Amino acid sequence: MNKSFLVKNYNRRKIAFKKGKGSFIYSTSGKKYLDFVQGIAVNSLGHANINLVKAINKQSKKVWHVSNSFIIPEGEILAKKLTQKTFADFVMFQNSGAEATEAAIKVARRYFYSIGKIKKNRILCIKNSFHGRTIATIFASGSKKMTEGFGPKVPGFDHIEFRDFKPRFPNIKNKITNNTAAIMVETIMGEGGIKTIPVKCLKYLRKICNEKKILLILDEVQCGIGRTGKFFAFEYAKIKPDIVPIAKGIGGGFPLGAVLMTKKVASAMIPGTHGSTFGGNPLAMSVGNAVLDQIFKKGFLIKVQKVSKYFHNELNKLKKEFPKIIKEVRGIGLLIGLQLYKNNEKFIQKLTNNHLLTIRAADNTIRLLPPLTVNKKEIDLAIKILKKVCISFK
Ligand SMILES: *Cc1c(COP(=O)(O)O)cnc(C)c1O
Repeated sequence: MNKSFLVKNYNRRKIAFKKGKGSFIYSTSGKKYLDFVQGIAVNSLGHANINLVKAINKQSKKVWHVSNSFIIPEGEILAKKLTQKTFADFVMFQNSGAEATEAAIKVARRYFYSIGKIKKNRILCIKNSFHGRTIATIFASGSKKMTEGFGPKVPGFDHIEFRDFKPRFPNIKNKITNNTAAIMVETIMGEGGIKTIPVKCLKYLRKICNEKKILLILDEVQCGIGRTGKFFAFEYAKIKPDIVPIAKGIGGGFPLGAVLMTKKVASAMIPGTHGSTFGGNPLAMSVGNAVLDQIFKKGFLIKVQKVSKYFHNELNKLKKEFPKIIKEVRGIGLLIGLQLYKNNEKFIQKLTNNHLLTIRAADNTIRLLPPLTVNKKEIDLAIKILKKVCISFK
Protein backbone atom coordinates (compact mmCIF):
# COMPACT_ATOMS: atom_id res chain seq x y z
CA MET A 1 0.00 0.00 0.00
CA ASN A 2 1.27 3.49 -0.84
CA LYS A 3 1.24 6.30 1.71
CA SER A 4 -2.26 7.04 2.95
CA PHE A 5 -3.51 10.59 3.19
CA LEU A 6 -6.38 9.62 5.47
CA VAL A 7 -6.22 10.73 9.09
CA LYS A 8 -5.15 7.83 11.26
CA ASN A 9 -8.15 7.86 13.58
CA TYR A 10 -8.77 4.22 12.62
CA ASN A 11 -6.57 1.19 13.05
CA ARG A 12 -7.47 -0.36 9.70
CA ARG A 13 -7.09 -4.02 8.84
CA LYS A 14 -4.86 -4.41 5.77
CA ILE A 15 -7.59 -5.59 3.48
CA ALA A 16 -9.78 -3.90 0.85
CA PHE A 17 -12.77 -5.12 -1.11
CA LYS A 18 -13.93 -4.87 -4.68
CA LYS A 19 -17.42 -6.37 -4.55
CA GLY A 20 -19.92 -8.20 -2.40
CA LYS A 21 -22.96 -10.42 -2.79
CA GLY A 22 -25.29 -11.27 0.08
CA SER A 23 -23.28 -12.64 3.02
CA PHE A 24 -20.02 -12.71 1.07
CA ILE A 25 -17.45 -10.09 0.10
CA TYR A 26 -14.43 -10.35 -2.22
CA SER A 27 -11.09 -8.67 -1.52
CA THR A 28 -9.08 -6.76 -4.10
CA SER A 29 -6.59 -9.65 -3.97
CA GLY A 30 -9.34 -12.06 -5.04
CA LYS A 31 -10.14 -13.75 -1.72
CA LYS A 32 -13.72 -14.60 -0.72
CA TYR A 33 -14.83 -13.77 2.83
CA LEU A 34 -17.93 -14.59 4.83
CA ASP A 35 -18.87 -11.11 6.03
CA PHE A 36 -20.27 -11.12 9.56
CA VAL A 37 -19.48 -7.45 10.05
CA GLN A 38 -21.65 -6.07 7.25
CA GLY A 39 -20.45 -2.55 7.90
CA ILE A 40 -21.34 -3.01 11.61
CA ALA A 41 -24.97 -4.11 11.27
CA VAL A 42 -25.51 -1.62 8.45
CA ASN A 43 -26.00 -3.86 5.40
CA SER A 44 -29.11 -5.43 6.88
CA LEU A 45 -29.95 -7.20 3.61
CA GLY A 46 -26.37 -8.13 2.72
CA HIS A 47 -24.25 -6.82 -0.11
CA ALA A 48 -25.69 -5.73 -3.46
CA ASN A 49 -29.25 -6.73 -2.62
CA ILE A 50 -31.12 -6.73 -5.92
CA ASN A 51 -34.11 -4.74 -4.65
CA LEU A 52 -31.88 -2.04 -3.18
CA VAL A 53 -29.81 -1.88 -6.36
CA LYS A 54 -33.02 -1.41 -8.35
CA ALA A 55 -34.37 1.23 -5.95
CA ILE A 56 -31.23 3.38 -5.98
CA ASN A 57 -30.83 3.05 -9.76
CA LYS A 58 -34.40 4.05 -10.38
CA GLN A 59 -34.29 7.05 -8.02
CA SER A 60 -30.86 8.19 -9.26
CA LYS A 61 -32.36 8.78 -12.69
CA LYS A 62 -35.14 10.94 -11.28
CA VAL A 63 -34.07 13.29 -8.48
CA TRP A 64 -31.20 12.90 -5.99
CA HIS A 65 -31.63 15.75 -3.61
CA VAL A 66 -34.31 18.25 -2.70
CA SER A 67 -34.24 20.72 0.18
CA ASN A 68 -36.42 19.96 3.17
CA SER A 69 -38.19 23.24 2.51
CA PHE A 70 -40.15 21.27 -0.10
CA ILE A 71 -42.33 18.18 0.22
CA ILE A 72 -40.39 14.97 -0.38
CA PRO A 73 -42.94 12.24 -1.30
CA GLU A 74 -40.46 9.35 -0.83
CA GLY A 75 -39.89 10.56 2.74
CA GLU A 76 -43.62 10.86 3.41
CA ILE A 77 -43.99 7.22 2.36
CA LEU A 78 -41.10 6.01 4.53
CA ALA A 79 -42.33 7.95 7.57
CA LYS A 80 -45.82 6.50 7.10
CA LYS A 81 -44.45 2.96 6.96
CA LEU A 82 -42.39 3.51 10.11
CA THR A 83 -45.32 4.91 12.07
CA GLN A 84 -47.75 2.23 10.88
CA LYS A 85 -45.49 -0.54 12.13
CA THR A 86 -44.20 0.99 15.37
CA PHE A 87 -45.07 2.97 18.52
CA ALA A 88 -44.20 6.21 16.73
CA ASP A 89 -46.57 8.90 15.49
CA PHE A 90 -43.93 11.03 13.78
CA VAL A 91 -40.49 10.70 12.21
CA MET A 92 -37.61 13.13 11.65
CA PHE A 93 -34.92 12.02 9.21
CA GLN A 94 -31.17 12.44 9.75
CA ASN A 95 -28.07 11.00 8.10
CA SER A 96 -26.38 8.97 10.82
CA GLY A 97 -26.72 7.42 14.24
CA ALA A 98 -24.94 10.19 16.13
CA GLU A 99 -27.16 12.81 14.53
CA ALA A 100 -30.23 10.76 15.38
CA THR A 101 -29.28 10.33 19.05
CA GLU A 102 -28.30 13.98 19.35
CA ALA A 103 -31.61 15.00 17.78
CA ALA A 104 -33.36 12.69 20.26
CA ILE A 105 -31.75 14.66 23.10
CA LYS A 106 -32.89 17.91 21.49
CA VAL A 107 -36.46 16.63 21.16
CA ALA A 108 -36.58 15.61 24.84
CA ARG A 109 -35.29 18.99 26.02
CA ARG A 110 -37.49 20.95 23.68
CA TYR A 111 -40.54 19.03 24.90
CA PHE A 112 -40.02 20.16 28.49
CA TYR A 113 -39.19 23.67 27.30
CA SER A 114 -42.47 23.74 25.36
CA ILE A 115 -44.50 22.89 28.47
CA GLY A 116 -42.69 25.51 30.53
CA LYS A 117 -40.45 23.15 32.53
CA ILE A 118 -37.22 24.70 31.33
CA LYS A 119 -35.11 23.28 34.16
CA LYS A 120 -35.93 19.73 33.12
CA ASN A 121 -33.06 19.25 30.71
CA ARG A 122 -30.71 16.59 32.07
CA ILE A 123 -30.37 13.19 30.43
CA LEU A 124 -29.60 10.06 32.43
CA CYS A 125 -27.42 7.57 30.49
CA ILE A 126 -25.40 4.44 31.12
CA LYS A 127 -21.70 4.91 31.84
CA ASN A 128 -19.56 3.65 28.94
CA SER A 129 -22.49 3.30 26.58
CA PHE A 130 -22.32 4.41 22.95
CA HIS A 131 -24.48 7.03 21.26
CA GLY A 132 -22.12 8.32 18.58
CA ARG A 133 -19.15 10.64 18.24
CA THR A 134 -20.49 14.20 18.21
CA ILE A 135 -19.43 16.49 21.04
CA ALA A 136 -22.72 15.99 22.89
CA THR A 137 -23.06 12.25 22.32
CA ILE A 138 -19.54 11.41 23.54
CA PHE A 139 -20.34 13.12 26.83
CA ALA A 140 -23.68 11.29 26.90
CA SER A 141 -21.72 8.03 26.77
CA GLY A 142 -19.61 9.09 29.75
CA SER A 143 -16.66 7.17 28.37
CA LYS A 144 -13.23 8.43 29.40
CA LYS A 145 -11.63 7.02 26.27
CA MET A 146 -14.03 8.78 23.89
CA THR A 147 -14.08 12.15 25.68
CA GLU A 148 -10.39 12.48 26.55
CA GLY A 149 -8.98 15.65 25.02
CA PHE A 150 -12.33 16.89 23.79
CA GLY A 151 -13.24 19.16 26.69
CA PRO A 152 -14.71 21.31 27.95
CA LYS A 153 -17.17 18.73 29.19
CA VAL A 154 -20.65 19.11 27.75
CA PRO A 155 -22.98 19.47 30.75
CA GLY A 156 -26.42 17.94 31.08
CA PHE A 157 -25.65 14.24 31.35
CA ASP A 158 -25.79 12.00 34.41
CA HIS A 159 -24.74 8.38 34.54
CA ILE A 160 -25.71 5.05 35.98
CA GLU A 161 -23.70 1.85 35.76
CA PHE A 162 -24.89 -1.03 33.60
CA ARG A 163 -24.48 -3.33 36.61
CA ASP A 164 -27.24 -1.33 38.32
CA PHE A 165 -29.66 -2.92 35.85
CA LYS A 166 -29.91 -5.97 38.10
CA PRO A 167 -33.04 -7.37 39.78
CA ARG A 168 -33.51 -4.39 42.10
CA PHE A 169 -32.92 -0.89 40.87
CA PRO A 170 -32.66 1.57 43.77
CA ASN A 171 -29.63 3.30 42.23
CA ILE A 172 -31.53 4.29 39.13
CA LYS A 173 -34.35 5.93 41.04
CA ASN A 174 -31.87 7.86 43.20
CA LYS A 175 -30.26 9.36 40.11
CA ILE A 176 -33.47 10.89 38.81
CA THR A 177 -33.78 14.48 40.03
CA ASN A 178 -36.24 17.31 39.40
CA ASN A 179 -33.99 18.33 36.51
CA THR A 180 -34.05 14.97 34.74
CA ALA A 181 -35.81 15.15 31.37
CA ALA A 182 -35.15 11.66 30.07
CA ILE A 183 -33.45 8.33 30.50
CA MET A 184 -31.52 7.39 27.35
CA VAL A 185 -30.13 3.87 26.99
CA GLU A 186 -29.29 1.38 24.25
CA THR A 187 -31.77 -1.49 24.50
CA ILE A 188 -28.78 -3.70 23.77
CA MET A 189 -25.35 -2.12 24.20
CA GLY A 190 -23.52 -2.78 20.93
CA GLU A 191 -20.05 -1.23 21.18
CA GLY A 192 -20.19 -1.89 24.92
CA GLY A 193 -19.99 -5.65 24.39
CA ILE A 194 -23.51 -6.83 23.45
CA LYS A 195 -25.02 -6.33 26.88
CA THR A 196 -28.79 -6.69 26.92
CA ILE A 197 -30.97 -4.73 29.31
CA PRO A 198 -33.22 -7.48 30.72
CA VAL A 199 -36.92 -7.33 29.85
CA LYS A 200 -37.78 -6.79 33.53
CA CYS A 201 -35.49 -3.75 33.70
CA LEU A 202 -36.98 -2.26 30.54
CA LYS A 203 -40.45 -2.62 32.02
CA TYR A 204 -39.17 -1.02 35.22
CA LEU A 205 -37.62 1.87 33.26
CA ARG A 206 -40.96 2.54 31.56
CA LYS A 207 -42.68 2.44 34.93
CA ILE A 208 -40.37 4.93 36.65
CA CYS A 209 -40.41 7.22 33.63
CA ASN A 210 -44.21 7.27 33.90
CA GLU A 211 -44.09 7.84 37.65
CA LYS A 212 -41.58 10.67 37.41
CA LYS A 213 -43.19 12.06 34.22
CA ILE A 214 -39.93 11.90 32.29
CA LEU A 215 -39.19 10.53 28.82
CA LEU A 216 -37.73 7.19 27.82
CA ILE A 217 -35.31 7.31 24.89
CA LEU A 218 -34.21 3.92 23.59
CA ASP A 219 -31.23 4.07 21.24
CA GLU A 220 -31.91 1.34 18.67
CA VAL A 221 -29.30 2.50 16.17
CA GLN A 222 -27.56 -0.88 16.29
CA CYS A 223 -30.15 -3.28 17.71
CA GLY A 224 -33.17 -2.02 15.74
CA ILE A 225 -34.55 -2.68 12.23
CA GLY A 226 -35.03 -6.41 12.62
CA ARG A 227 -31.57 -7.19 13.99
CA THR A 228 -32.96 -9.08 17.01
CA GLY A 229 -35.78 -10.83 15.15
CA LYS A 230 -38.27 -8.12 16.17
CA PHE A 231 -38.35 -4.79 14.37
CA PHE A 232 -37.24 -3.14 17.63
CA ALA A 233 -35.42 -4.96 20.44
CA PHE A 234 -37.66 -3.31 23.06
CA GLU A 235 -40.68 -5.12 21.59
CA TYR A 236 -39.56 -8.17 23.59
CA ALA A 237 -40.45 -6.19 26.73
CA LYS A 238 -43.83 -5.10 25.30
CA ILE A 239 -43.19 -1.47 26.24
CA LYS A 240 -43.48 1.78 24.33
CA PRO A 241 -40.67 4.34 24.52
CA ASP A 242 -41.20 8.06 23.81
CA ILE A 243 -38.28 8.65 21.47
CA VAL A 244 -36.19 6.19 19.44
CA PRO A 245 -33.16 7.11 17.34
CA ILE A 246 -32.39 4.66 14.52
CA ALA A 247 -29.76 4.49 11.75
CA LYS A 248 -27.40 1.66 10.68
CA GLY A 249 -29.76 -1.05 9.32
CA ILE A 250 -32.48 1.26 7.98
CA GLY A 251 -30.38 2.42 5.02
CA GLY A 252 -29.08 -1.03 4.09
CA GLY A 253 -25.69 0.61 3.45
CA PHE A 254 -26.86 4.07 2.43
CA PRO A 255 -26.24 6.72 5.14
CA LEU A 256 -29.61 7.22 6.81
CA GLY A 257 -30.79 7.94 10.33
CA ALA A 258 -34.06 8.99 11.92
CA VAL A 259 -35.73 9.88 15.18
CA LEU A 260 -39.07 8.23 15.86
CA MET A 261 -41.32 9.82 18.46
CA THR A 262 -44.78 10.09 19.94
CA LYS A 263 -47.23 12.84 19.08
CA LYS A 264 -46.76 14.35 22.54
CA VAL A 265 -43.07 15.15 22.12
CA ALA A 266 -43.29 15.83 18.38
CA SER A 267 -45.60 18.74 19.11
CA ALA A 268 -42.62 20.67 20.53
CA MET A 269 -40.71 20.50 17.25
CA ILE A 270 -42.23 23.50 15.52
CA PRO A 271 -40.76 24.99 12.29
CA GLY A 272 -37.17 26.11 12.77
CA THR A 273 -36.38 24.01 15.85
CA HIS A 274 -34.29 21.43 13.97
CA GLY A 275 -33.06 20.77 10.47
CA SER A 276 -30.69 18.84 8.25
CA THR A 277 -29.60 19.65 4.71
CA PHE A 278 -29.20 16.06 3.63
CA GLY A 279 -31.53 14.33 6.10
CA GLY A 280 -34.35 12.55 4.30
CA ASN A 281 -33.26 13.22 0.73
CA PRO A 282 -35.02 11.28 -2.07
CA LEU A 283 -32.06 8.95 -2.72
CA ALA A 284 -31.84 7.89 0.94
CA MET A 285 -35.62 7.63 1.24
CA SER A 286 -35.93 5.36 -1.79
CA VAL A 287 -33.35 2.96 -0.38
CA GLY A 288 -35.00 3.10 3.07
CA ASN A 289 -38.35 2.24 1.52
CA ALA A 290 -36.85 -0.75 -0.30
CA VAL A 291 -35.23 -1.98 2.95
CA LEU A 292 -38.48 -1.74 4.90
CA ASP A 293 -40.54 -3.39 2.15
CA GLN A 294 -38.34 -6.43 2.52
CA ILE A 295 -38.11 -6.47 6.34
CA PHE A 296 -41.86 -5.95 6.75
CA LYS A 297 -42.66 -8.79 4.33
CA LYS A 298 -44.73 -11.46 6.01
CA GLY A 299 -42.51 -14.09 7.61
CA PHE A 300 -39.24 -12.17 7.21
CA LEU A 301 -38.67 -11.51 10.92
CA ILE A 302 -39.86 -15.02 11.88
CA LYS A 303 -37.16 -16.34 9.59
CA VAL A 304 -34.59 -14.11 11.33
CA GLN A 305 -35.74 -15.55 14.68
CA LYS A 306 -35.46 -19.13 13.41
CA VAL A 307 -32.05 -18.79 11.83
CA SER A 308 -30.66 -16.92 14.83
CA LYS A 309 -31.95 -19.59 17.20
CA TYR A 310 -29.99 -22.13 15.20
CA PHE A 311 -26.91 -19.87 15.32
CA HIS A 312 -27.14 -19.38 19.10
CA ASN A 313 -27.54 -23.16 19.60
CA GLU A 314 -24.47 -23.90 17.53
CA LEU A 315 -22.47 -21.19 19.32
CA ASN A 316 -23.47 -22.55 22.72
CA LYS A 317 -22.34 -26.02 21.62
CA LEU A 318 -19.02 -24.46 20.65
CA LYS A 319 -18.79 -22.77 24.03
CA LYS A 320 -19.27 -26.16 25.72
CA GLU A 321 -16.61 -27.68 23.55
CA PHE A 322 -14.14 -24.84 24.21
CA PRO A 323 -14.89 -23.63 27.75
CA LYS A 324 -11.41 -22.14 28.12
CA ILE A 325 -11.81 -19.96 25.03
CA ILE A 326 -15.45 -18.85 24.91
CA LYS A 327 -16.74 -17.32 28.13
CA GLU A 328 -20.23 -16.31 27.06
CA VAL A 329 -22.54 -16.17 24.05
CA ARG A 330 -24.38 -12.85 24.28
CA GLY A 331 -27.11 -10.99 22.46
CA ILE A 332 -30.45 -11.57 20.82
CA GLY A 333 -31.24 -12.61 17.26
CA LEU A 334 -28.43 -11.68 14.88
CA LEU A 335 -26.83 -9.18 17.25
CA ILE A 336 -24.37 -11.64 18.73
CA GLY A 337 -21.34 -11.24 20.96
CA LEU A 338 -18.84 -13.90 21.92
CA GLN A 339 -17.07 -12.92 25.10
CA LEU A 340 -13.70 -14.65 25.13
CA TYR A 341 -11.10 -15.66 27.69
CA LYS A 342 -8.44 -15.31 24.99
CA ASN A 343 -7.48 -12.00 23.39
CA ASN A 344 -10.33 -10.92 21.12
CA GLU A 345 -8.17 -8.95 18.65
CA LYS A 346 -5.92 -11.99 18.04
CA PHE A 347 -8.98 -14.20 17.66
CA ILE A 348 -10.52 -11.81 15.13
CA GLN A 349 -7.26 -11.80 13.14
CA LYS A 350 -7.25 -15.61 13.03
CA LEU A 351 -10.86 -15.64 11.88
CA THR A 352 -9.96 -13.13 9.17
CA ASN A 353 -7.05 -15.36 8.07
CA ASN A 354 -9.66 -18.12 7.73
CA HIS A 355 -11.96 -15.88 5.70
CA LEU A 356 -14.55 -15.00 8.35
CA LEU A 357 -14.94 -11.27 9.06
CA THR A 358 -16.02 -10.23 12.57
CA ILE A 359 -15.54 -7.11 14.69
CA ARG A 360 -14.57 -6.34 18.27
CA ALA A 361 -16.61 -4.82 21.07
CA ALA A 362 -15.74 -3.87 24.66
CA ASP A 363 -15.42 -6.53 27.38
CA ASN A 364 -13.07 -8.67 25.26
CA THR A 365 -15.99 -9.53 23.00
CA ILE A 366 -16.20 -10.25 19.28
CA ARG A 367 -19.36 -9.34 17.41
CA LEU A 368 -21.03 -11.56 14.82
CA LEU A 369 -23.34 -9.43 12.69
CA PRO A 370 -24.47 -11.38 9.64
CA PRO A 371 -27.01 -9.86 7.28
CA LEU A 372 -30.63 -10.58 8.24
CA THR A 373 -30.82 -12.67 5.08
CA VAL A 374 -28.16 -15.14 6.30
CA ASN A 375 -28.96 -18.84 5.79
CA LYS A 376 -28.16 -22.05 7.66
CA LYS A 377 -25.45 -23.07 5.25
CA GLU A 378 -23.58 -19.79 5.82
CA ILE A 379 -23.96 -20.17 9.58
CA ASP A 380 -22.54 -23.70 9.33
CA LEU A 381 -19.55 -22.25 7.48
CA ALA A 382 -19.04 -19.62 10.19
CA ILE A 383 -19.23 -22.29 12.91
CA LYS A 384 -16.72 -24.43 11.03
CA ILE A 385 -14.26 -21.53 10.87
CA LEU A 386 -14.84 -20.57 14.52
CA LYS A 387 -14.20 -24.18 15.52
CA LYS A 388 -11.01 -24.37 13.50
CA VAL A 389 -9.70 -21.20 15.14
CA CYS A 390 -10.71 -22.45 18.60
CA ILE A 391 -8.75 -25.67 18.02
CA SER A 392 -5.64 -23.82 16.91
CA PHE A 393 -5.95 -21.44 19.89
CA LYS A 394 -5.86 -24.30 22.40
C1 LIG B 1 -23.32 3.19 15.73
C2 LIG B 1 -24.12 3.73 16.84
C3 LIG B 1 -24.36 5.11 16.97
C4 LIG B 1 -23.70 6.13 16.07
O1 LIG B 1 -23.99 5.96 14.74
P1 LIG B 1 -23.10 6.72 13.61
O2 LIG B 1 -23.87 6.48 12.37
O3 LIG B 1 -21.75 6.07 13.63
O4 LIG B 1 -23.03 8.14 13.99
C5 LIG B 1 -25.20 5.54 17.98
N1 LIG B 1 -25.77 4.68 18.83
C6 LIG B 1 -25.56 3.35 18.74
C7 LIG B 1 -26.25 2.43 19.70
C8 LIG B 1 -24.72 2.83 17.76
O5 LIG B 1 -24.48 1.52 17.70
